[in-house]
Parts: sequence; C-alpha cells; structure tokens
Amino acid sequence: MRYDGPIYRPPSEADSLLVQATVGCPHNKCSFCMVYKKGPRFKVRPLGEIKADLAEAAGLYGARARSLFLPAGNSLAMPTGQLTEVCREALSLMPHLERITVYASMAAIEAHGPQGLARLRRAGLRRLHVGLESGHGPTLARVKKGTDPEQQARAGAMALEAGLELCLYVLLGLAGPEQSLDHARATAQVINRINRAGQLTVRLRTLVPKVNTLLLHQMRRGRFTLCTPHEIIAETRELLSGLSGPLELHSDHYTNYLNLRGRLPRDRRILLEGLERAGRLPREAFRPDFVGEQ
Ligand code: SF4
Repeated sequence: MRYDGPIYRPPSEADSLLVQATVGCPHNKCSFCMVYKKGPRFKVRPLGEIKADLAEAAGLYGARARSLFLPAGNSLAMPTGQLTEVCREALSLMPHLERITVYASMAAIEAHGPQGLARLRRAGLRRLHVGLESGHGPTLARVKKGTDPEQQARAGAMALEAGLELCLYVLLGLAGPEQSLDHARATAQVINRINRAGQLTVRLRTLVPKVNTLLLHQMRRGRFTLCTPHEIIAETRELLSGLSGPLELHSDHYTNYLNLRGRLPRDRRILLEGLERAGRLPREAFRPDFVGEQ
C-alpha cells in the first residue's frame, strides 16, 4: 500500500485497515490545526491506484480485517460515484468487513445530499468522523472552521437520517476563557439539533496549541488565552448539562484533563459529580500546558 502525506486516524479506528483514497484536506484553513499546513495539497487518488491498494490490503489482511478507514482530512469530499465505487470494491474484495469509515466535513456531507448519502450507506460506508469543534458561530468563524451552526445542524441530521453513524469531536477550550460557557451551550444546542434516531457519539478533546498554527501565533501575540484546567472542567459541565441525548460520550484523548465515558442522559448525574470532584483538585493535579508537535 502507498501512503502520501500525514496519516491520522481516530483512536477508535486503531484496529482498522488503512487504505488511502484522498490526500490532504480540501479546507486546510483551521487556525488550530497543523496536520496538512505544510502540504500535501488535497487530491483524490486515481481510482486505479486505490483499487490496487485495496487488492494488496485484501491479500495481506482481508481474512481478518473487520474495519476499513480511508485516512486523510476529509475523504467524504470525494465525488459520490467514486467513493461508492471504492466502498463496493472494498466489500467485494473483503466480504468480512463490517464497517468502512472516513473523516468528513459538514460541507461534504451536505454536498452529497440525502440521496448521495443513502447511496454511500448502501455501498458500505458506515461511520463519519466529523470535527465539529464547536457549535458557537463566533468561535467557528474565528478559527476559520469553514462552517456555521446552521450547516452543522442540517448536515449532521442529514447523515443520521441516511443511516450513517456519526462521531462528533468537540474541542474544549477553543473559545478561550471569556466565551467558554457560550461555546459549551451553543455546542450542546447544535448537537441536540443534529440528534435523532441513529447512532451518535460525542468525543471530547482539549485544545492544545500546535506548532505552525495561526492559533499559536495569536497566543504569542496575546490575542488568545488558553483556558485553565478548572475553566475546562466548568465548560465540560456546562456542555454535559445541556446535551439531551441519547448519545455516547467519550473523552479518551491525551489532550484531556479527565477521562469521561458514559451514555447521556442516563449517566449525566454521575459524570457531573465526577467533574465537580475534579474541580476541587489543585492545578498541580492536572497535566501542564504544552505546545503540541503532532
Ligand atoms: S481540522 Fe480538519 S478540516 Fe480543519 S484544517 Fe485540519 S484536517 Fe482540515
């Protein structure tokens, strides 16, 4: 198999086979993200190359592969027909596959439309990993996320209605201390608007400034301030209080101050109690601030 550019996958895809269908990120403007800032530029790989890699992967791992992840920043940005063909080819070569998953943007979800998404679902695409980051309009605009709460609500609901599973990543601390609670409330509202019968998971990450990013530059110029651990805990409490569910919640990432796991609304009280206890710990009980390099 050939790989081009940085290869990232969500922790939940640790056991997935990785075959690249696209390279880079078509947006590549988020102020907090360093992944593709130094290239390569976004492209869809030629179908013949993707199929050759799928055949090689099937020969090596096909008998035991249960999950296939198509890495790069937004493989859902492929045209519907091409991604459908990739999914069909993967399933015909590896009939034991139980799921095919990709990173996706809200704009790409909306571009396929309900019929395109249903076609992709029938072809075997099962789960979309989406960097929601925030549902707070001013924060989305400031970090140049390339979407807004209205599109997030429409596109997220459209994906669930098409039968796709949705895994949304929320970035705690993204609004800084002054707008922290607004970010939490608005994010809960957007997720509640997206949520309907379907499989929804919310995964929490905490903002860590990364090298080669606009956000780190803004911090060094005094134009952005990181939240303290206690501000992040208060933000998380506000978010969890506002989420209606039903959904799975995880905060399984090295950037987080706390690991949380539960189902909402069922586990809300126990999660909030854990956050309240954590809020009474001293600053030294939490990881130090650092600049991320990957
Ligand atoms: S956060 Fe996602 S959409 Fe934004 S630049 Fe990075 S890979 Fe692209």
